[in-house]
Amino acid sequence: MSVFQHIEFDNHEHLAFCHDKETGLKAIIAIHNTNLGASLGGCRMWPYVSDDEALNDVLRLSKGMTYKAAMAGLNQGGGKAVIIGDPRKIKTIELMRAMGRFVDSLGGKYISAEDSGMSVADLKIMAEQSNHIAGIDAKYHVFGEHADGNPAPSTAYGVFVGLRSSVEFALKRDLKGVKVAIQGLGHVGLRLAEHLYKAGAELYVTDIYPENIAIAVSQFNAKQVKPDEIYDVDADVFAPCAMGAILNPDSIARLKMKVVAGAANNQLATEKCGQLLKERNILYAPDYVINAGGIIDIYHQKIPSSHEAMRAHVERISTTLIEVYERAQALNLATNLVANQIAEERFNK
Ligand code: NAD
Repeated sequence: MSVFQHIEFDNHEHLAFCHDKETGLKAIIAIHNTNLGASLGGCRMWPYVSDDEALNDVLRLSKGMTYKAAMAGLNQGGGKAVIIGDPRKIKTIELMRAMGRFVDSLGGKYISAEDSGMSVADLKIMAEQSNHIAGIDAKYHVFGEHADGNPAPSTAYGVFVGLRSSVEFALKRDLKGVKVAIQGLGHVGLRLAEHLYKAGAELYVTDIYPENIAIAVSQFNAKQVKPDEIYDVDADVFAPCAMGAILNPDSIARLKMKVVAGAANNQLATEKCGQLLKERNILYAPDYVINAGGIIDIYHQKIPSSHEAMRAHVERISTTLIEVYERAQALNLATNLVANQIAEERFNK
């Protein structure tokens, strides 16, 4: 396993490995950049097949967090943690405590939040050992409702306002009658569907499970399509809200939509796919810019704030996207590259 030569290493500031003999914890914390503040990012627990796979994931994800935080206007850097192992098989209270001690050993340079394979309950156990755990005592909700710590309402609202301004920029119209195809109706996708429905959009939806489709069909007048047909829908906007790497040469060639704006992380199979979208005259809302509502939510839970301040911050996703689009247009560049440029200007300042 090479570390400094690793293709994803990219000037990481700090990489820490932990093996706790008593609990069997094997974990890695990667801190990419703290120029703007302590690094913030989720802790993922996953049955990685090799240490290499875990290292690759943690490096890639922590770098992504630096860019996301910078574009969201947070005084926060990027970091990430991974625990190697199947959460359904080896997760114990003692293992979570050991992970809490590992986070604490970095003295606050890394603040841990939730990610795949981890729950708020797990983070609360980690918080017995460290003050550097986020997302466990939520106070604010983007619409002033009871805050339960789930950042999805903020993420969905951020995607909604970002999608709306992307449509205004590309199609010069509001959302009334705009056709939106949503892939994935989970925590974010279903809430996005509701916002869009209320704004007068026409919805086409898909998921691999029927329950949420039934809600979207009955409550938001959505039309159901099969999962593999979502790319072919004759719609104005494609909103990927399920998994990553769905924008590849094959799917991009099929799209009839003029805007891609959705919540999924790592939507582009490769950076070059941003250029393919541009060549097809499809406006792409860079995923880590439009889906930053969740991290903005977690950030506000840690500082003295209010529902209104959090909501206003989420709404600034629109302004940031327009900045990206205008510069991309002026420089004739793909929007994903311009987002990277602006983020780098912010955190390298
Ligand atoms: P989720 O697991 O609640 O929902 C994902 C949905 O996609 C599920 O309903 C699932 O059945 C569906 N799905 C899976 N494979 C599919 C396929 N092939 N075709 C159609 N649907 C499929 O997840 P979520 O929290 O709603 O997050 C959605 C995406 O947004 C993820 O990529 C996530 O990483 C990203 N994201 C989420 C947040 C957040 O606050 N939850 C924040 C930032 C980014």
